[in-house]
Parts: sequence; C-alpha cells; structure tokens
Amino acid sequence: MAKIVMKFGGTSMAGTERIRNVAARVKKEVDAGNQVAVVVSAMAGETDRLVNFCREAAPLHDTKEYDVVVASGEQVTSGLLAMTLQAMGVPARSWLGWQLPIRTSDAHASARIEDIDCTALNAALASGEVAVIPGFQGVTMDNRVTTLGRGGSDTSAVAMAAAMKADRCDIYTDVDGVYTTDPRIVPRARKLDKVTYEEMLELASVGAKVLQTRSVGLAMKEKVRLQVLTSFDDRPGTLIVGDDEIGENDVERQVITGIAHDKNEAKITLTNVPDRPGAVASIFTPLAEASINVDMIIQNIAHDSGSTDVTFTVPGAELARALDALEKGKDTIGYERLLHDTKVAKISIVGVGMRSHAGVASTMFKALGSRGINIQAISTSEIKVSVLIDEDETELAVRVLHTAYGLDAEDAA
Ligand code: ADP
Ligand code: ASP
Ligand code: MG
Repeated sequence: MAKIVMKFGGTSMAGTERIRNVAARVKKEVDAGNQVAVVVSAMAGETDRLVNFCREAAPLHDTKEYDVVVASGEQVTSGLLAMTLQAMGVPARSWLGWQLPIRTSDAHASARIEDIDCTALNAALASGEVAVIPGFQGVTMDNRVTTLGRGGSDTSAVAMAAAMKADRCDIYTDVDGVYTTDPRIVPRARKLDKVTYEEMLELASVGAKVLQTRSVGLAMKEKVRLQVLTSFDDRPGTLIVGDDEIGENDVERQVITGIAHDKNEAKITLTNVPDRPGAVASIFTPLAEASINVDMIIQNIAHDSGSTDVTFTVPGAELARALDALEKGKDTIGYERLLHDTKVAKISIVGVGMRSHAGVASTMFKALGSRGINIQAISTSEIKVSVLIDEDETELAVRVLHTAYGLDAEDAA
C-alpha cells in the first residue's frame, strides 16, 4: 500500500465527463489498495475568466479580494470530484484550504505555503476515504483566503505530498510528459523520460508552464518523487529525478535539454537617467517595495550628456503597478521618458551540459541572426541563456533553436 498525491490540471477537470474520467483513475489507485489525496485545478479557462472580472471591477484591485474571487474555481471542482467519486461508490470528501488548514504567508495572489496540518486528513485517509483538495490556495494566520500565483495547484500538490510524506506525487496534465520544448509549438519536440530537478526548475522559471516553478523547487528540497503524465491515456510520463539518477555521460544526453518561451514579460525603458552612483538603486527600490520581480536588465553606456538609458523586463501582469511606481518616483530617479512594450517574448535554452561545453550561446545567437531575428536583451545563468525578441517571432525562434541544438525527434517528418 502506498500513500499518493494525484494532481489533475484544468483540462482534465473541464466538465462532467472529464471529471468522471479523473474519478475512474482515482478509483483505480484506491482499488489497488492505496491511500489517495487528490489536488484539483479549476476547469480550464475558469481562472482566466475570474481574473478578468477582477480587472474589469478595478484595474488596481485589492489582492485580498482578488484571492477570494479566483480561489472559487478550485472550490467548485473539488466538490464536483468528491460527488462523482461518491457516486462511483468511493468514499470521498473535499477539504478546503481553511479546513485542513493550509497556512500561507499573507502575500496575496502569490502566497507561499508555510504549514499544512495533516492530522484530520491522515485520519480520513486511514479510514479509506479519498481526500479532495482544491489546489492554488490556502489561508493566512488571520483566516483570509490566499492564492499561490498562476499554475499554483502544482505547488499545492507537492506541498501536500511533502506534508503527508507521500510515496509519490503524480501530476496529470494534457500532455503526456515534459518535452524538449512546448509540443504545441514544435510538433518535433521529444518527450524526456527523465529530467533533473535542477533543469526542470530552470525550464519552469523561464516559461515551460507544464510545472509551476515553485512546485519543482519544493519537490527538490523535500525530495518528493514527482512525475508528469497525462490523464487521457496510460502512456508513461516523465520522472523528475536527482542528478545521480541520470548519467552525466549518457549518450542520449544533449548539451541543451530544453527550450522555453515566455510571452508574459513586458519591457520598460527609462531614458536619460542621470549616470551617477545610486541611480539604478533609485529605479529598482520602489519596484522591490511593490514586490515586483525584475528579470533582464540592460544599462546602456552613458550619453555625452552624462545620462544613460536603462531597460528591464517585469512580468506583464505587473506592468501597470510597475509603471505606477516608476511614475511616482520620477523626481527621485530623474529620468526623461518612461517607455514600455508588451510585444516581446523571452526565449531560453537550458541544459546542465552548458557547464562543460563552450560556444553554446554563440550557436543561439548565430541561429537567430541567420533567420533575421533581432535580440533586444540577453541574460544568462550557469545552465541557461535567455534572449528577448519581438513576440511575433516566438514560434520561429523556438523551432530554429530546437533544430540548431539537435533536439528534433528522429521520426519527425
Ligand atoms: P494544467 O492545467 O494541467 O496544469 P498547464 O496548461 O498548466 O496544464 O501545463 C501544460 C501545458 O504546458 C501543455 O499543454 C503544454 O502546452 C505546456 N508546455 C510548455 N512547455 C512544455 C514542455 N517543455 N513540455 C510539456 N509541456 C509544455
Ligand atoms: N487554476 C489556477 C490557474 O489557472 C491554478 C492551477 O490550475 O494550477 O492558474
Ligand atoms: Mg499548470
């Protein structure tokens, strides 16, 4: 008998028939003698719909109330799955965030899970009942509902698995595993049997939304056995493993493991910022105070006038707040114009092989240049190179790089 967490994403939960399919999968695990906790997402499209309502109500809305609205999608699907299981003769009940409880920080809309009390849950599981838990949410110490950021149900599932000391955490989604790049963009993408936590973390953080970044970080830290698979058939998925479980010299191993894209960044440029010590701090301090993450940063060489242009990217969803903070700080920073562009995309290549191979980045720049794709910004880490390009060229860039690094599936036409 094993203790398992099964997480089902929005596509798997979209409608009565699909929820029945999910319930049948859960029943199979129960019939095999396992104790099962299920973490569910809202139906596909539902969270976007709810987010839009918030935007329409007030563009700069109170994030506490945003959380109340957007957390409701998962509450619906957890009740529906519990009912469906019961109708199949499987004892089940839902456990909302405040009922367990799942305690989080009070960073509304991007809260962190701090503690999960599993006492009641463990008793229910031991009695043979399936626990259905709405993903993406929790509750603060003063009992306000929080959400964990978009895609947060993956993190809920991993956190549940860690707290319950589950034997494994299975993430069921609409693709049958982790691919070398988004298979919806590159049909020649190859499924990876295994990928290391480190690479998955980096891939997720630069836009491979198959797993939320924080879920991978948490799984790595808590040593949760994580796999990604589809709820629509029985094909084997992708295992996320430690470095020791994947051979450094594996002949199958490529220098680049995967490529990701992210269209949700926005570029901001401040022109004619005084070129003096402390100027950059005066730009980024108000953004940090507003909890806005800045990603790529470029500071041009100073103009003759003793001023410089500073360009950086922020998450698209934070653009309004970032512009607001920068406008308020105009006199302190002393810039001339505040420009922004949302028609940009970040393309990233990831692979631990980069540590031991030279020329990886230049292959990227050459491949993009040969197709006339202009690079607007660059950032790197030990196992990643990212470039910012025009959003219209995203698909072309990903395809070109996939071929340039020899990642195309052999059987592809
Ligand atoms: P869920 O609702 O199940 O959480 P998501 O839409 O969040 O599903 O994540 C699954 C999607 O991630 C896939 O449909 C696919 O388009 C996308 N994706 C992006 N990069 C990858 C990748 N490298 N491998 C697999 N899927 C990817
Ligand atoms: N429903 C939430 C979202 O769409 C959380 C999730 O599905 O992981 O972001
Ligand atoms: Mg997801």
